[in-house]
Amino acid sequence: MSKTIDWTAIRADFPILDQEVRGKPLIYFDNAASSQKPRAVIDAVSRYYERDNANVHRGLHELSSRATDAYEGARTKVAAYLGAASAEEIVFTRGTTEGINLVAQTWGAKFVREGDVILLTEMEHHSNLVPWQMLAERTGARLRFVPVTEDGTLALERLGEWLTPEVKIFAFTHISNSLGTINPVADLCRAARAVGAVTLIDAAQSAGHLPVDVREIGCDFLVFSGHKMCAPTGIGALYGRAELLDAMPPWHGGGEMIVSVSYERSTYKKAPYKFEAGTPNIGGAVGLGAAVDYLEAIGRAAIFEHDLALTQHALAGLSALPGVHVQGPRDRRGGLVGFTMDAAHPHDLTTYADQHGLALRGGHHCNQPLMKKLRLPGTTRASFYFYNTTAEVDRMLAILADAVRFFA
Ligand code: PLP
Repeated sequence: MSKTIDWTAIRADFPILDQEVRGKPLIYFDNAASSQKPRAVIDAVSRYYERDNANVHRGLHELSSRATDAYEGARTKVAAYLGAASAEEIVFTRGTTEGINLVAQTWGAKFVREGDVILLTEMEHHSNLVPWQMLAERTGARLRFVPVTEDGTLALERLGEWLTPEVKIFAFTHISNSLGTINPVADLCRAARAVGAVTLIDAAQSAGHLPVDVREIGCDFLVFSGHKMCAPTGIGALYGRAELLDAMPPWHGGGEMIVSVSYERSTYKKAPYKFEAGTPNIGGAVGLGAAVDYLEAIGRAAIFEHDLALTQHALAGLSALPGVHVQGPRDRRGGLVGFTMDAAHPHDLTTYADQHGLALRGGHHCNQPLMKKLRLPGTTRASFYFYNTTAEVDRMLAILADAVRFFA
């Protein structure tokens, strides 16, 4: 890392972190579920509503043109952030879940037929599973899964057994939200291309945590949620290669997505507008644009290194606690750690942590089939972001050491 970063000053950008919960300083380790927001994002959204708020695209007045510039400006920022060829390859969505549903319902409806295979992995979030189950039910396509091995990685040396020419789409997560595994996305895309399959990457856990460049990766679609990367809830984006977006039919019909409408039929705009019916989440897009600027100023490579250092510190400490078992790979992994404690159910442990001002998450993390395969009732998950500190990890380890005695 070349530049020196003042992480303490960066932490001070997040007003919410400066508070006590249950009489203790808040430790927020639930970042994989939703991150906190810096002042720059909160201010950008407030400023938009205080000065520029109006509907986009249709208005012939000053505020509408400012709102349109802000909304389309955010699209351009997201395109640059992801390394897309143009802003037209960015569709605003409510988040990862909506992005996957959009692809499953539009690309899927047009291109997936009975007998085709939809290839997923055993570590997918329900968001990257249920929409494909629905598509399979509608079309008669089959679902197939790349297995997760004992060490929490994909069984890639046997990928060819599942990634065959019947596969129409291979959809997989970049970083597992319960194991922390970082999948080799560029390799997976290359392998998929070799059999003629389209690829979709669930970047919910990666877009705000490490450099992601869609053209370097070579994916066809990529989806993420703004709220996991410092932006407001209710906004995210789908990246789609222009050629694919152009070939896909629209899904929601209504205003904004049409060129002309008669009582009988309508004609549609080009991508991305044909996928954005109705008044969009303009304030959310403004917040997302501000979040992208904020993250870029720090640098995603630096964020990744920071989070990795916290994760390794947590892994070492957790492994030393009696009756605590860490899930997922040991070395290369994202900034989160899922673990179990023999003496306590994940829900009880997470409630215990909350009594000490420590926000963890306990449960199946929307990975029910994976938990079942791993024969776990769920895990307790600590997930880090660049505003967290080593001192907070030490405090977590002390609270968990007390919990081992408490539940014994
Ligand atoms: N995919 C992964 C890997 C996730 O971790 C999450 C959220 O936890 C999602 C998808 C769903 O994201 P959202 O609820 O923002 O649509």
